[in-house]
Amino acid sequence: MNQKRVAIIGGGPAGLAAAELLSLSSHLVTVYDAMPTFARKFLLAGKSGLNITHSEDYISFVTRFGPASARLRPALDAFTPDDIRHWAAELGTETFIGSSGRVFPKVMKASPLLRAWLRRLETQGVTLRTRHRWVGFAEEGFVFETPEGRSLVHCDAALLALGGASWPRLGSDARWLPWLAEKGVEIDAFRPANCGFVVGWSESFRERFAGEPVKSVAATSEAGTFPGEFVITASGIEGSLVYAHAASLRDRLQSRGSAALTLDLAPGRTAERLARDLARQDAKSSFSNRLRKGAGLDGVKTALLRELLSERDRADPGRLASVIKALPVPVLQTRPIGEAISSAGGIRWSSIDDGFMLKALPGTFVAGEMLDWEAPTGGYLLTACLATGRAAARGIEDWLLR
Ligand SMILES: Cc1cc2nc3c(=O)[nH]c(=O)nc-3n(C[C@H](O)[C@H](O)[C@H](O)COP(=O)(O)OP(=O)(O)OC[C@H]3O[C@@H](n4cnc5c(N)ncnc54)[C@H](O)[C@@H]3O)c2cc1C
Repeated sequence: MNQKRVAIIGGGPAGLAAAELLSLSSHLVTVYDAMPTFARKFLLAGKSGLNITHSEDYISFVTRFGPASARLRPALDAFTPDDIRHWAAELGTETFIGSSGRVFPKVMKASPLLRAWLRRLETQGVTLRTRHRWVGFAEEGFVFETPEGRSLVHCDAALLALGGASWPRLGSDARWLPWLAEKGVEIDAFRPANCGFVVGWSESFRERFAGEPVKSVAATSEAGTFPGEFVITASGIEGSLVYAHAASLRDRLQSRGSAALTLDLAPGRTAERLARDLARQDAKSSFSNRLRKGAGLDGVKTALLRELLSERDRADPGRLASVIKALPVPVLQTRPIGEAISSAGGIRWSSIDDGFMLKALPGTFVAGEMLDWEAPTGGYLLTACLATGRAAARGIEDWLLR
């Protein structure tokens, strides 16, 4: 039997998914990771319950990846959200559908799934190597830094599954970018995705409200209008509702230099009703009393209006009502990519073929977040990482059979 050596560099969800599929063939598969343990970001995702995929109608599901949706589609079709639930169950992790349609393990964590997954890989003959940092190319091979010094790995095919650029302390530090660019791989600069934003809060607002959730609101940007909640931070805003608008706000900041998230602080009431109820309040009573009695608002919502409105707007019931329904919160910039849930940008689709092989480096494949796609939170990120890992594994099998 002609056994081929496959090196998988990066042991996050994309790399491990590829290893799992490749280990079913006769190839000698080794997964290398720079960190002392595998899949640290996957484990961190488990801290908030591990939203592993989404149960929405599949036709809607496959549109969540923006312009990359069409290129991702074959990979997603071959490993659908239902397949992911089945796969997790086979590894002993039953899942459930949350009220938002998001899918989570019943145990709401990633560690049992990861442990069973790594066990399966070892049982299927995969060699797992931690503390092996890929540091660049050498003639005919990949150079690694290991606790024992530098080593050179020769292989018949390699998969790079090195992640994006968020949370670099978990391993995906994007240091590989210039090494691939030098080889002629086209890469779009990484940008924060599903990230928080900086807002110019006053000192008093920041001190009083940092950490405070803003619940039961709706927010609008060019991405659309969504209900939900977010959190005030010392530097601005973050949380699921902000992440849903993050790509649109980020791109607008980049193209226009300014952007705002427009809040509806009272989604259950119309502007007309609010104006009527506010006009009934005694003009001499305090701003907070008028808002509480006339609009049912208090706490952080009242403080947001105080923070962002002029004295004149606060005094006019009609104007106040319309701003309660559409309060623009100007965002100044994204929070740094190191804090973002994920990253946009990465290896351009024009640089790879349909088997996820780099056109500039025949025999070297790529998968996961290092590719140029982005998606909202909701389990889409892990789904696409697992699916592209498996698609790249099929690309490698075809390449080795050629
Ligand atoms: C706080 C947080 C919560 C999240 N929650 C969710 C969620 O609930 N649902 C969801 O779908 N997504 C979630 N995500 C996103 C998801 O975890 C990532 O999209 C996913 O892990 C990316 O997978 P990947 O395999 O492409 O890369 P990574 O998981 O980043 O793995 C890349 C691996 O490559 C290794 N590596 C990098 N460079 C080298 C090198 N030079 N040599 C050797 N190894 C190297 C790294 O150590 C790492 O192990 C979350 C992310 C964060 C930060």
